[in-house]
Amino acid sequence: TYIVNDLCIKCKYTDCVEVCPVDCFYEGENMLVIHPDECIDCGVCEPECPAEAILPDTEPSAEKWIEFNREYSEQW
Ligand code: SF4
Repeated sequence: TYIVNDLCIKCKYTDCVEVCPVDCFYEGENMLVIHPDECIDCGVCEPECPAEAILPDTEPSAEKWIEFNREYSEQW
């Protein structure tokens, strides 16, 4: 799965949402998140993000964001 980190906060671009083939982006309080069970790991959103806030969960820095993305995508 891919995840969104805090670089997304207050980003005004939603290019990632538009390219996602499975619509697994959800809007959190002040940032977007990805539902980790719905993401099919296609990777097309990553280069679309101008804030570089989207990472594969295999990146060491992404690990702490997985649960956050899950919680937020189920809450809203
Ligand atoms: Fe959507 Fe693909 Fe990005 Fe996952 S990797 S959030 S499926 S665009």
